[in-house]
Amino acid sequence: MKFQTLAHPAPLPSDRRAAALENPGFGTLFTDHMVTIDYDEAKGGWHSATLGPRQPIALDPAASVLHYAQEIFEGMKAYRQPDGSLALFRPEENAKRFNKSAARLAMPALPEDLFLESIRQLLSVDGEWYPSVEGGSLYIRPFMFATEAFLGVRPAKQYKFVVIASPAGNYFKSGSPAVSLWVSDYTRAAPGGTGAAKCGGNYAASLVPTGQAFAKGHDQVLFLDAVEKKWIEELGGMNLFFVMDDGSVVTPPLTGTILPGITRDSLITLLREEGLNVREEMYSIDQWREDATSGKLIETMACGTAAVVTPVGKVTSEDYSFTIGSGGPGQITSKLREKLVGIQTGAVEDTHGWVMKLG
Ligand SMILES: *Cc1c(COP(=O)(O)O)cnc(C)c1O
Repeated sequence: MKFQTLAHPAPLPSDRRAAALENPGFGTLFTDHMVTIDYDEAKGGWHSATLGPRQPIALDPAASVLHYAQEIFEGMKAYRQPDGSLALFRPEENAKRFNKSAARLAMPALPEDLFLESIRQLLSVDGEWYPSVEGGSLYIRPFMFATEAFLGVRPAKQYKFVVIASPAGNYFKSGSPAVSLWVSDYTRAAPGGTGAAKCGGNYAASLVPTGQAFAKGHDQVLFLDAVEKKWIEELGGMNLFFVMDDGSVVTPPLTGTILPGITRDSLITLLREEGLNVREEMYSIDQWREDATSGKLIETMACGTAAVVTPVGKVTSEDYSFTIGSGGPGQITSKLREKLVGIQTGAVEDTHGWVMKLG
């Protein structure tokens, strides 16, 4: 598909951009441009790909996304390489997952090459927005939503795919070395629901529990399974790994109620390369508490694109509280984080073909 390029009338002047990039925070600063591609069943599918100024999108008040929440997204980062170019980490996996999410939400598939080309197009004009802070990256947010003006309940026939980008500094406000979790009574996903899809609705449902966690002074919420309220699932936007003192590592299996993280998948490979025995197995909150208390469990890490690999230091519920190891970052967590970030930024050799360099 040919992209139509629309000139930007007033991109941010470079001195103001440079000032903003010194302290980008997370998710509040955006680059100058965006990509949009429209879908219309009556016009044969995807059409009108544009690369243009980032600007508000006009929507009919009856647009079905506003009523029935047909919306999905992806989250990925571009990383500056030693030669100055930008590279993406396993972007084909994001393209595949995007289509799995689309299928669950009864939305049309977007060809994987068009997904990737959209990101290339955006970075070709907004590469200057790479943040200057240590550990910074350019966060990329592709998303799709239903635009058809129709209040009946059925899949929409018109959609918009958009890609925006946001220079990112540190994900956690506190920048604390280990995060504190609040065990929620709310659940995130039920069997047969949309837990494995990256859809906005899952996040809407997680805001109250996350707000409770913040109000109680914690960084993140931990969700248990919806049926027995016993098995550990994941955080609001991160998967979990439990490291034992015998060199084994447990991570919850992909049963359909957790999000299949690309960081999770990459860590399974890297942990096995380190000689650790990774098992995808259900792990209960009671067992975690017991293992942390006895010292059998030595580390817990949370992982996702936004925060990469983050140690969990403390876990609290209405009834109890326990500390993981010394409460700070553990050795394996730190080593894995360094290795993964090293591969992403080109400091460590990419032996898996995970890094896609952009010209
Ligand atoms: C995106 C996401 C993750 C992490 O996935 P990555 O591909 O590693 O970024 C984990 N849990 C939820 C709920 C998510 O939305």
